[in-house]
Amino acid sequence: MPTTIFTIANQKGGVGKTTTAVNLAAALADKKIPTLLIDLDPQANATSALGVEKQAGRSLYGPLHGEGTAVEMITPTAYERLSVIPSEEDLAAIEIELAQTENYLAKLRGVLEPLRTGNQFRAIVIDCPPALGMLSMNSLVAADHLLIALQCEYMALEGLGQILRNVDRLKTAGINPDLDVGGIVMTMFDTRTNLSRQVVDEVKKHLPDKIFDTVIPRTVRLSEAPSFGKTIFDYDPLSPGATAYKHLAKEVIARFGLKS
Ligand code: ATP
Ligand code: MG
Repeated sequence: MPTTIFTIANQKGGVGKTTTAVNLAAALADKKIPTLLIDLDPQANATSALGVEKQAGRSLYGPLHGEGTAVEMITPTAYERLSVIPSEEDLAAIEIELAQTENYLAKLRGVLEPLRTGNQFRAIVIDCPPALGMLSMNSLVAADHLLIALQCEYMALEGLGQILRNVDRLKTAGINPDLDVGGIVMTMFDTRTNLSRQVVDEVKKHLPDKIFDTVIPRTVRLSEAPSFGKTIFDYDPLSPGATAYKHLAKEVIARFGLKS
C-alpha cells in the first residue's frame, strides 16, 4: 500500500486551508482510507480543530532537528483511521533554524520518509501556514501533490500565480521534480453574489483540469465546528459543508487512485 502525500498550501491567510485539510482528511478516513493529518502551522489550528490538546514536544519540531522521529509524534484522534501529528508554537522557530542547515528544503521529506514507505497510512495531508516560508516550502518538497485552497474572492488568480511559480522553481531546480499540482479547491463560495461564480469560472477557464468540480460553500457551520474541536461530519453531518467535503474526498480518491 503506497502512501500518497498531499500538501494544502497557499501563502494567503484565511482562505480555508485548515478547514479543507481537517475535513478532507476526516472524509478520507471515513471512506476507509487510513489517513494522517500533519499540522505544520505553528498556529496549530488543525490540531485544535480535531480536539487534540497542544503539548510541548509533540510536533515535528524535534524530528526536524534530528531529535526523535515523526512516527513517535503520531497521535490518535477521536475518529477511526484518522491520526494527527500535532503542532505547537515552537514550530515557528524552525523557520529561522532550518535556514541555517544544509539541505534545508529537504528536511521534512527526510523526516517523513519512514511514513511514506511504512504501511500505516494510505494518505497524508499536510496543513501549511499562510506563507511560502521554510515550512511550506519543505512541505512542497515532501509532497506528491499540492492541493491549493483558493477563496472565491476578487484577485484570487493573482495569488495562484505566486504559488505556481514556486512549484515550477522547485521542479526545474530538481528539488522535487515530481511535484504535481494536484488540484484547486474553491472555498467559501457565496451563492448570494455573482462574484463567487465569476471567480470559479475564471479559474476553470485558466486551469480546467486542475479545479475540482466540488466547490465548498460559505457556511457558518464550517466555521463553528473547530471551536468545538469537531470535524464538520461530527458537528453537523447533514449540513451543506459536510456534503461538500464528502464530495471533495470522492473526487480526490478517484483522481489519485487512493482505493487501488
Ligand atoms: P490561515 O492562513 O490562518 O492558516 P486558513 O487558510 O487555514 O487560515 P481557515 O482557518 O480554514 O483558513 O479559515 C479561515 C476562517 O474562515 C476560519 O475562521 C474558518 O472557520 C472560516 N472558514 C473556512 N472555510 C469556511 C467556509 N467554507 N465557510 C465559512 N467559513 C469558513
Ligand atoms: Mg490554517
